[in-house]
Amino acid sequence: MTPNKIISKIYPGMPTSDGAGVKLTRMLGTPELEILDPFLMLDRMDSDDPDSYIAGFPNHPHRGFETVTIMHSGQMRHEDSVGNSGLITPGDVQWMTAGRGIIHSEIPEMLEGRMSGFQLWVNLPAKHKMVDPKYQDIPAENIPMIISDGTKVRIIRGTYNNTKGPAESLMPVRVLDITLEPDASWSINPKKGNSFFFCVYDGSITALDSGGKTQKIDSPSIITFSGDGEAKVKSNKIGAGVLYCEGEPLNEPVARYGPFVMNTQTEIKKAIDDFNSGKLTV
Ligand code: MN
Repeated sequence: MTPNKIISKIYPGMPTSDGAGVKLTRMLGTPELEILDPFLMLDRMDSDDPDSYIAGFPNHPHRGFETVTIMHSGQMRHEDSVGNSGLITPGDVQWMTAGRGIIHSEIPEMLEGRMSGFQLWVNLPAKHKMVDPKYQDIPAENIPMIISDGTKVRIIRGTYNNTKGPAESLMPVRVLDITLEPDASWSINPKKGNSFFFCVYDGSITALDSGGKTQKIDSPSIITFSGDGEAKVKSNKIGAGVLYCEGEPLNEPVARYGPFVMNTQTEIKKAIDDFNSGKLTV
């Protein structure tokens, strides 16, 4: 029997707010879990209280990395400085390469109901930080889904079961969105040397702990694993939603300040100066 990886650590996430006061749970990019190279940040939004999301994320800049918006429920209107605009609806993904600079807004286009989804930040290597910005609007129906044994795996980026996800990225990352029915199991064998994590965002799962027993993990939590073999999770009575992210670490210095992520403080200062003088996006 192949061995299974064991839980290395569980991170429950940190309540925070961003944009014009949108309430979020920061899963990655917290004091406890600053980075899982090349992943810089993961925010979970999940609320049925319009007051906590309605103001959205008005115009703000980015430089030096990629932002990924994964919508589960609700809808957001997106507009940016490159002339792109669109409505992100349930199941859709927006994969944006900020590169040398983009200014955009994301505003909920709904007055009530549940708003839920993710924003993930993927770092770029020094050689790609100043590339032209690129925007990909990926409708839900273009995202392949593999259904087997009580699990549905949506392949957003990278390859799984010989099926390739539609998102293009300058980074060799894999992003899968998995729904487990009650009492279903799912496992994956990450490439050796890659960083990877599971974010349990709905329901709860169990996974093997260091004592060889299963431990229950409630949403929202990030789980990291250690050891050899497959990383395996099992849902409980109510099923689970799990986001899986895997990527090759960049192993480059990271200088970050708000929406700018570069390699050095000098480059951060340049990004701030460029933004203040209207040169970020030119
Ligand atoms: Mn943004």
